[in-house]
Amino acid sequence: MSTCLSDTMLIMMSESNSVVDYDAIVVGAGVIGAAVAFELARRGWRTLSIDKGPAAGSGSTSSSGSIIRFSYSTPVGVMMAWEGMHYWKDWENYLEAPDESGLIEFVQCGMASLAVGDDGHAATIKPLWDQVGIPYEEWTTADLAERFPVFDVGLFGPPTRPDDDNFWQDPVGELSGALFSPDSGYIDDPALSAHNLMRAAEAKGSEFRFNTEIVNILRSGSQCSGVELADGSAIRAPVVVNVAGPHSAIVNKMAGLAGTMAITTRPIRHEIHQVPGPKDFDFGEHGTNIADDDTGIYFRPQSGNNILIGGSDPACDKHEWADPDDFNGEVTATHWDAHVLRANKRMPSLGVPHRKMGVVGLYDVSSDWLPIYDRTDLDGFYVAIGTSGNQFKNAAVAGHMMAELIEEVEDGLDHDVDPLVVRGRYTGLDLEMGAFSRNRKINPNSSMSVHG
Ligand SMILES: Cc1cc2nc3c(=O)[nH]c(=O)nc-3n(C[C@H](O)[C@H](O)[C@H](O)COP(=O)(O)OP(=O)(O)OC[C@H]3O[C@@H](n4cnc5c(N)ncnc54)[C@H](O)[C@@H]3O)c2cc1C
Repeated sequence: MSTCLSDTMLIMMSESNSVVDYDAIVVGAGVIGAAVAFELARRGWRTLSIDKGPAAGSGSTSSSGSIIRFSYSTPVGVMMAWEGMHYWKDWENYLEAPDESGLIEFVQCGMASLAVGDDGHAATIKPLWDQVGIPYEEWTTADLAERFPVFDVGLFGPPTRPDDDNFWQDPVGELSGALFSPDSGYIDDPALSAHNLMRAAEAKGSEFRFNTEIVNILRSGSQCSGVELADGSAIRAPVVVNVAGPHSAIVNKMAGLAGTMAITTRPIRHEIHQVPGPKDFDFGEHGTNIADDDTGIYFRPQSGNNILIGGSDPACDKHEWADPDDFNGEVTATHWDAHVLRANKRMPSLGVPHRKMGVVGLYDVSSDWLPIYDRTDLDGFYVAIGTSGNQFKNAAVAGHMMAELIEEVEDGLDHDVDPLVVRGRYTGLDLEMGAFSRNRKINPNSSMSVHG
C-alpha cells in the first residue's frame, strides 16, 4: 500500500490548519458508496460514510433491479461486469464479516438476450464475450421456444408505445434465437447488499452516519479539506468521495466543480413493475433474466412465481429527467401499461393484473451512459458517479478500483496523463480506468441506454 493514512493523521494538522477527523469521507452509503468505504477500510483507511437517508442502500440502490449480467457494449464494460460477478459469487469470503440481517443471495438463473436478425445487442456482445472468455450458449429459435413454451417468438419490433396503432400489429417473422449466459443472475435484496458492505466496512473500522446531509464541500486552495453538514458543523478529511447517486451533480456543484467535466450527470426517473408469472409456467422457479430489445423491456424472475419488468430505453420512450429531491415516487399507469403490455406480447398468457405493483427510482445518467470513476480538478475529491442504471452489479469491483485510484493519486500518480490500470482481483483482467474518465470523449460504442 502506498499512502495508507495512519492514526497519527488524526492529530495532524491539515493545510487549512484544522484537525483532520478522518482519512476519507464517503458521500453516500448506497451499494457503491458502501463498497468504496469497505475497500478503503481494507487498506487501512479510517473512513466516515455520511448519508442523508435513513439506512444503507435506501437511495437508488433500494429500487435496483439488481441484475448481474455481462452484456455491455464496450470491452472494458464487459470485463468489469465479468470481474464484478465473481465478488457476488464469493460474497461471504469477500466480506470477511457477518451481518445480523443475513447475507444477500446471488441467484444464478442465467440470462437470455433475445436475438433480432444478425444485428442488435446480442450481436454486439458476442465478440466481446469471446474476447473476455465469458461462457455462453447460442440458442436457436426452437431452443428458446422449448425452454420457454409460454413465449411467442414472433418479431414485434421496433418497440412502440401502447397508444401507437403499430403496437397492436401481429408479429412479422421470428426472433433469430438468443444468446444465453449461464453465469448471469440477480441479487435477491439490493438494499441488503449495501448493508452487508457497511457491516464489513465497520468490522474494519469504518463509521457510518445516517439522516445527515452534506451541504458543502470544504476546500483549502486547490485541496479538498472536508464537508459541511446541514447543522453547520464541519468534518475534516483530506479525501472526499462523491458517491451520491442521483445527487452526484449537486454534490459536484458544492465542490465548485460544475462545468469542469466533459462528461456530466443527470437523473432520469424509471419504474420497475412486478407481476405474477403466467399460470402455465413457473417463471420464478424456471425463468432466466431476459433482455428483449424487440419489445423494449427486460425482465427477470422474482421469488414466488413473480416477474420484475423494466424498460430498456427504446427510442419511443421519452427520457423522464427528474429533480432528485422532488420526483413522483408512485407507479404510473403510463409506464405500467407500456411494460406489462410489452411483456404480454412475449408471454401472451401473462395477463394484466388489476393491482399495479412496482418501484420507482432514479438512474444517475452520464452523457454516454457509462460511469465516471475518477479524480476531479479539486485535489482529494473523487467521484464514483454516472452509474446510468447499470452499475449495481459492479459495486464491489468499482469500490476496489476507486480505492486503488485514490491511493495511487494521493501518492502522486498523474492519472489524467497516465491513466491507472487496475488488475481484477478474481479474473486477473486489466481494467483500464481511463475509459471511465470525467474528461473522456463520448464513447461512440456505448448503447446510450441502460445496456451501457
Ligand atoms: C429502477 C432501477 C433499476 C436498476 N436496475 C439495475 C440492474 O438491474 N442492474 C444493475 O447493475 N444496476 C441497476 N441499477 C443501477 C444501480 O442500482 C445503481 O447504479 C446503484 O444502486 C447506485 O448506487 P450508489 O451507491 O452509487 O447510489 P445510491 O444508492 O443512490 O446512493 C447514493 C446515496 O447518497 C446519499 N446522498 C445524496 N446526496 C447526499 C448529501 N448531500 N448528503 C448525504 N447523503 C447524500 C443518498 O441519500 C443515497 O443514499 C438500477 C437503478 C434503478 C434506479
